[in-house]
Amino acid sequence: MNNRRIFLVFFFAVALFFLLWKNNKQLQYVRNSGFIFGTTFSMTYASPDGIDLKKEIHQELMQVVDNSLSTFNKRSILSLINTNQPHQTDSAFEVVFNKAIEISKLTNGAFDITVGPLVKAWGFGFDKSDSLPSDEEIAILQQIVGYQSVHLIDHHIIKDHPETQLDCSSIAKGFGVDVASNFLERKGISNYMVEIGGEIRVSGMNPSGEKWRLGIDKPVEDITFEHRAIDTILHISDMAIASSGNYRQFYYKKGKRYSHTIDPISGYPVNHQLLSATVLAKDCMTADALATSCMVMGTEKSLELAQQLDNVEVYLILAGQDGKYKEVYSEGLKKYLNP
Ligand code: ADP
Ligand code: MG
Repeated sequence: MNNRRIFLVFFFAVALFFLLWKNNKQLQYVRNSGFIFGTTFSMTYASPDGIDLKKEIHQELMQVVDNSLSTFNKRSILSLINTNQPHQTDSAFEVVFNKAIEISKLTNGAFDITVGPLVKAWGFGFDKSDSLPSDEEIAILQQIVGYQSVHLIDHHIIKDHPETQLDCSSIAKGFGVDVASNFLERKGISNYMVEIGGEIRVSGMNPSGEKWRLGIDKPVEDITFEHRAIDTILHISDMAIASSGNYRQFYYKKGKRYSHTIDPISGYPVNHQLLSATVLAKDCMTADALATSCMVMGTEKSLELAQQLDNVEVYLILAGQDGKYKEVYSEGLKKYLNP
């Protein structure tokens, strides 16, 4: 062999070594779980060499979501707005606020983040009342409820009524899922499942190299979570999914059932056949807000909305005959039922 040949053989041997070494740096799926925002979270993601990012993700969520949207943190932007103190909105707050207003307009006010005082009056939420409100009380509270009376101007929230309160609990979990997902994507991770309090976003493939399999719960009236049963399984990728239901957060008083979803227009808890609404959308904040919206709007309007919007599908579970359930879903959802 002449020198040139020896060099070429050596060159290819070194190139092959690096190629194999790089491929060996395999994607390993990491699983994390824990507590955040008063609920649970779980994540599975393929990171190079199985690097665990739990601490960083937790930190990112606390920094981004807690500082802006927490009702527990008395210094959060949301708390300052609710107590009429000086504040300046940040980009996270503005993203959520603008999305909330967009969904309010889209749903003709079925979704409304100013509904908090009514939620409290009906005995739910972070500062709740114990007795049922009278019709007069509801009428008075309705005067300070309405997304049209809050305005984001120059990084400030201007309220037409100082008593108006913002409550982002129906959208914050979904936003948190998006924050964690975006964090993973910034790290170059494209195969993941992020879940906070039941709201989920998935990308790429699961550890078996298939689409992610996500179960929709049967609407079993059991607040202990002990009798969780799956209604159906969806096979999805690169989508977010959120559910809202009236089967976990409710109470009975004088034989009547009161749920935690409030119709901002009537001022009363919704009471219809719809037991749970699951929404698929491209981002989890949209899915989360729309799931709550569906619970307010009911079956027909929810199906119409899914028909009208691109990349939005709904799966609804209704109370049927003889204690049985009835499932209805948008046309585009079928493809996720059978992969
Ligand atoms: P979950 O907390 O089970 O995920 P949701 O995402 O539907 O359920 O959020 C329910 C919460 O949303 C209620 O506890 C209440 O604080 C708030 N809420 C109730 N009615 C509405 C509404 N019409 N629009 C926006 N938020 C609402
Ligand atoms: Mg929601």
